[in-house]
Amino acid sequence: MPVTWYTAPISRIEQATPRVRRMWLTLPEQSAEFYFSPGQFLTMDLPIGEKRLQRWRSYSIANAPNGNREIELCIVHREGGTASEYLFEEVKVGTEIKFKGPDGAFVLPETMDRDLIMICTGTGVAPFRSMIQHLDNNGWTDRNIHLIFGSRNREDLLYADEFLDLASRRPGFRYTATLSRIAEDPAEPWIRKGYVHNAYEQDYAETSPDRKFLLCGWTNMIDTAVEKLIIQMGYGRDQVGYELYG
Ligand SMILES: Cc1cc2nc3c(=O)[nH]c(=O)nc-3n(C[C@H](O)[C@H](O)[C@H](O)COP(=O)(O)OP(=O)(O)OC[C@H]3O[C@@H](n4cnc5c(N)ncnc54)[C@H](O)[C@@H]3O)c2cc1C
Repeated sequence: MPVTWYTAPISRIEQATPRVRRMWLTLPEQSAEFYFSPGQFLTMDLPIGEKRLQRWRSYSIANAPNGNREIELCIVHREGGTASEYLFEEVKVGTEIKFKGPDGAFVLPETMDRDLIMICTGTGVAPFRSMIQHLDNNGWTDRNIHLIFGSRNREDLLYADEFLDLASRRPGFRYTATLSRIAEDPAEPWIRKGYVHNAYEQDYAETSPDRKFLLCGWTNMIDTAVEKLIIQMGYGRDQVGYELYG
């Protein structure tokens, strides 16, 4: 199938945390419609190099499909990264972005027949935010969903108000944030000092075939989590799925 490339202007930029920007692309009315499943990503062709591999960068879609041609992205500034420099220093509202997609098989299970434990660090929350928002808009599930978000400090929390609000409305949804650089255990029961690994090791030590772990983030977190879940804790390979950012 020929690849469809889209061009859309950046319609809004919001600094979400000191290192992360939320960015919205709004497809013009006359362009082809962009259908995606929650969890998928798009690939941008950025003016940052000669060769394809130098120019292409993928970003997960952070919002649920909503039919209004708006795509939300959640992008971290990587010190010295070529795309990071471009997306944080060059682009502004109105800058046209060329992209293709959607791609990726990191989506909600066809049948929600197991509890889902979603584990992420930083902007790895993006696909989970899309999936969770989609379920909230289209009928929640009888299954439990536990989102475990990891970062360094409080100022790095992404979409926390939204997830806390959801947890108060949906009894099957639980939100835990693990912060590695805070001084001591905080008063809020949903924040824990430590890493994402400490949280699932504590909460899911006893294995059960009734769970699926979905992981999203960078190699260091994913490698450790896969090893812990499958080799150390004894979960089945089919119980762990992941999206690797790099
Ligand atoms: C399927 C997919 C979806 C992605 N979705 C997102 C997303 O939603 N949001 C987002 O911010 N990024 C996402 N990424 C990562 C993104 O594509 C770029 O790799 C990232 O923006 C860095 O690009 P750069 O050109 O600035 O850095 P580069 O110069 O390409 O990066 C230099 C090196 O740093 C590593 N690296 C980059 N960022 C980090 C980090 N934060 N922690 C540890 N190592 C890192 C890269 O793997 C690379 O080896 C995704 C990647 C993939 C493959």
